[in-house]
Amino acid sequence: MILSTGEEVDLLIRDCAILTLDHAHFITQGAIAVKDKKIIYVGRKDSLPRVKAERAIDAHGKVAMPGMVNCHTHVAMTLFRGLAEDKPLDAWLRKDIWPLEAKLTWEDVYWGALLGCVEMLKTGTTCFADMYFYEDAVARAVEDSGLRAVLAQGIIELKTPALGKETFKQSIDFVQNFHGAAEGRIRTWFGPHAVYSCSLELLREVRRAASEKNVGIHIHLAESSEQAEKLYKKYGVSETCLLEKIGVLGSDVLAAHCIFLSKKDMQLLRKHNVKVGYNPVANAKLGTAVSPIKELMDLGVHVGIGTDGPASNNSLDMFWNMRFAALAQKLRYKDATVMNTRKVVEMATLGGARTLGLENMIGSIEVGKRADIILVDFNKPHLKPFHDVHANLVYSTCGSDVDIVIIDGRILIEKGEVKVLDEAKVMSEAEKRAFRLISK
Ligand SMILES: [Zn+2]
Repeated sequence: MILSTGEEVDLLIRDCAILTLDHAHFITQGAIAVKDKKIIYVGRKDSLPRVKAERAIDAHGKVAMPGMVNCHTHVAMTLFRGLAEDKPLDAWLRKDIWPLEAKLTWEDVYWGALLGCVEMLKTGTTCFADMYFYEDAVARAVEDSGLRAVLAQGIIELKTPALGKETFKQSIDFVQNFHGAAEGRIRTWFGPHAVYSCSLELLREVRRAASEKNVGIHIHLAESSEQAEKLYKKYGVSETCLLEKIGVLGSDVLAAHCIFLSKKDMQLLRKHNVKVGYNPVANAKLGTAVSPIKELMDLGVHVGIGTDGPASNNSLDMFWNMRFAALAQKLRYKDATVMNTRKVVEMATLGGARTLGLENMIGSIEVGKRADIILVDFNKPHLKPFHDVHANLVYSTCGSDVDIVIIDGRILIEKGEVKVLDEAKVMSEAEKRAFRLISK
């Protein structure tokens, strides 16, 4: 696609630095042109032909980069943010979270998800992967907020086959009804909760359905040492080996956490090209452990960064999560050279897109890709001097430094403000619903 002189474009971003994440990688005085939701020019501003733009943005002092991809969350859990702190994973789930979730209504999930969508947009996330109940309510929030998402209706059995059947049936309906919704911004996957909360027969059925419908599987894997030990006692193999044995592993599987892995498990993930969602903040907060991401990446496993639900994080700001993603690996391996800044920025953007099978559509600023672009304002005291773009983004930038957010060529955040929703209404409605839930 070549941009010609006099051509009309929908959006022109002028005079910014651009972190493209493709081979050009960093352009200091650049320009980006967008037409029909796609990027049609990226390069030096002085090489840009003279074009007519419906909307032009002067982005001097800003850095354009691909939007962040949050590859594992349960976004409606914003409603539980700040509840049930300082507890280990199993007790946190069973005593606090699951009883509260049993009371959720469709409207609760919608407003909780919408609150999370506003937070994600304002902090530069343009795409997320989610798994929860009433996922059609999350889909509505995605549609209303303008975000892009890979959504899965959660499947959970908890030794109650009828519940497994029912949630599996709901998830089949969800996959059929919402794939391609929100003008193509929504993809649907299957979301079996975990190996310990679904029977092997149910997991086999999910695998068959995913292959038949050509959609992915999003699952929690090797997150709890307690559950891993129980499964080992029962089956004599690890969770990862068990999933391989029953044929679930594949390149369309996104496994969140992957903390308790043997060398053999890591090899299996590589062999089947399973994608990994790394959630360092949630893992640290629940006192679990740090996932062996360096070793997985050395093997060639594709890894993205997730926040996990906002009840165990408690932030959806991917800049903070990206920073901790690097720090946790350096600590785990007691090695400052592990997880350099360029690698971690890639993990939060293009790497995340790869974990969702969307790398041909998003994850970098390249001609032909969707215009999912954020502009970070580098004219801030904590971002001076500007020696190194990756170092500033990983260690000094906050989500609140994001000035403009564009998805599919549409400006959703400008000067840090939400353009498409009534932010005050979303906050008050979500808070009202959260307070009502705990008083029920
Ligand atoms: Zn999770």
